[in-house]
Amino acid sequence: MKTDGILFDVDDTLVDTKGAFARALEAVRAEHLPHVPAERDPEILSHWRTDPGGFYSRYTRGEMDHVTQRRHRAALLHETFGAAPVTEKSFEVWDALFWGTFERSWTAHDDARAAIDAVVAAGLSVGVVTNAATELQERKLKAAGLGDLPVLVGVDTLGFGKPDPRVFLEGARRLGTEPSRTAYVGDEPTVDALAAHQASLTGVWLDRAGHRRGPGYGAHAQNGAARPGAVGPGAVDSGAVAFDAVQPNAAQRAALVGDPQDPEALRAAGVVVIETLAQLPAVLGYGGGH
Ligand SMILES: [Mg+2]
Repeated sequence: MKTDGILFDVDDTLVDTKGAFARALEAVRAEHLPHVPAERDPEILSHWRTDPGGFYSRYTRGEMDHVTQRRHRAALLHETFGAAPVTEKSFEVWDALFWGTFERSWTAHDDARAAIDAVVAAGLSVGVVTNAATELQERKLKAAGLGDLPVLVGVDTLGFGKPDPRVFLEGARRLGTEPSRTAYVGDEPTVDALAAHQASLTGVWLDRAGHRRGPGYGAHAQNGAARPGAVGPGAVDSGAVAFDAVQPNAAQRAALVGDPQDPEALRAAGVVVIETLAQLPAVLGYGGGH
């Protein structure tokens, strides 16, 4: 397999979004959940990242806007941890603290800069395909010192996001590479790696130590991956023709119904699994090592 280009996810792949959320949620806990002890911060962070209500998935399907999905997640967080209900009015104050702290906390993962430089040095094309808004991700990458990376596809580009295969194909088209000679690297096994693989790219799951989601992760996203090209009720009409996707094979279906974060099941389904971005040249066969 020859690789001509690499597309990267942003959050928790290049940028330490988990760390930024941790700081934002610590501030929220101290201010709005004062009865919750600081020892429960990991639980709060896990709840946020797992998104048990599936609100971010609804955002990526075009069913609600970015602020609304955040308000629903804030309300569920307060309900789960026994805090006062979140109203439209109280959410304004909540979000100013949460989002303000989050934005000030954007930093790159230690291995990100070197990984991108290695891709460029090897003569491969590089870009970003993300499930957040293009403008937001451009600001985030710039703040993290990665502003030279072009954001080729955001959730606003087509009106829906990953795991829809059209998102990955649009990324490759804009990168100027054949999908089958393009890799997609992301931290979410199903939404990123398995979905990219189903779209005929090389799907690479970045399984960073300590970065897996909690129980219940993937319950909402899997539906999209299992039904390539499916458009949920209320989704934005993209105007695109139905995508004639290859149906998942037995190994892919097994990866979808079992633990969505099981590396062996994902490998069996055709996904490449790495633990740091420094492993990319070796597994994709570029750079000085080959
Ligand atoms: Mg991510």
